[in-house]
Amino acid sequence: GFVPPFVGKALDGANAANGGGGGEGDMESPYPPRLMEMLSERDLISVSPEGGLAVPPELSKLEPKIVEHVFNEVLDASSNITWDDIAGQEAAKRLVQEMVVWPMLNPQLFRGARAPPKGLLLFGPPGTGKTLIGKAVASNISATFFAISASSLTSKWIGEGEKMVRALFTLAQLLQPSIIFIDEVDSLLSARKAEGEHEASRRMKTEFLVAMEGCDPKATDKRVLLIGATNRPEELDDAARRRMPKQLYIPLPCAAARLQMLTNVFKQGCEVSTALTPSDLAKIVERTAGYSGSDMRNLIQEACQGPVRDHFRTRGLVQNVDPSELRPVTLRDFQMASKAQKPSVSESEIERYQKYDESFGAKY
Ligand code: ADP
Repeated sequence: GFVPPFVGKALDGANAANGGGGGEGDMESPYPPRLMEMLSERDLISVSPEGGLAVPPELSKLEPKIVEHVFNEVLDASSNITWDDIAGQEAAKRLVQEMVVWPMLNPQLFRGARAPPKGLLLFGPPGTGKTLIGKAVASNISATFFAISASSLTSKWIGEGEKMVRALFTLAQLLQPSIIFIDEVDSLLSARKAEGEHEASRRMKTEFLVAMEGCDPKATDKRVLLIGATNRPEELDDAARRRMPKQLYIPLPCAAARLQMLTNVFKQGCEVSTALTPSDLAKIVERTAGYSGSDMRNLIQEACQGPVRDHFRTRGLVQNVDPSELRPVTLRDFQMASKAQKPSVSESEIERYQKYDESFGAKY
């Protein structure tokens, strides 16, 4: 379709009115105002000879509708996760800092033989903090964070996946430093299905691999980092592995990490009071072996409902109840909650990850 090269109001109204183009009234920008702001902060908006505002040519080549999709649905502005928000995973956090945070902070230092990897793959069971790690990287370097799940690319935007991918990488390059976080990356870059693979999804995959090549830190000074996450690392093909050469195992939280999650929740502003003793905490930690981070979160939420349910059972109404009237959360609340929240990852799955880690995982 037709893509207007000039967008937004002219800086100098009189000039624009005299110039060609639409003539009457303001030209409506087809791009989200916040995107225009972000481009302008980076000096990427120029004034056209006719007095209109022009976006960079690589952007005006794309359909504004697709650009808007990527901007509104993929850009995640809410990521101010710190490393301390991620319990455990100490080794992974350290390696990610060295490998991707430092090079993004000072690209000059990390050139040539010190050039960072083109991409990073985080693999492991669901709910272990892979997304949190991506967000922590982005907050640490004040990068623009694009988060997309590959299955939404393949299903939601049927037939437009290829265009979405192009828009995603174009925006990421313009709004650098950027992190592109692709959840379920296996569904995008799975080993080529010999037959029956949908033509559109094959084209999207090709577009994706080519776009990634364009972000290679050895070939360009663009600061765009790809972080893929997957629960099924075996399904990636060789082309994908070459483009995400560093593969980090993000395992289930260890005992210390589970304890940290518990203490974090109950110290935060003390909104929920507990009567948990150190020995209660130790018991909970022991009984949650095999729980993922998100299982832990769900268990804690469930346990914290205990006092509210009790109050409701004995007194009826919930409205007008002050939090201070509730009894504290006890070990028994956790025991009850553990009936509802079982570990979501099986031991055989863990063995599968460990095996994969032995062959492909980065050693650290
Ligand atoms: P995934 O590994 O599937 O990307 P997420 O990072 O999205 O998992 O984690 C899901 C949720 O589980 C998080 O929002 C957080 O509440 C909780 N969680 C998972 N791992 C951790 C962790 N290591 N520390 C604190 N919270 C965690």
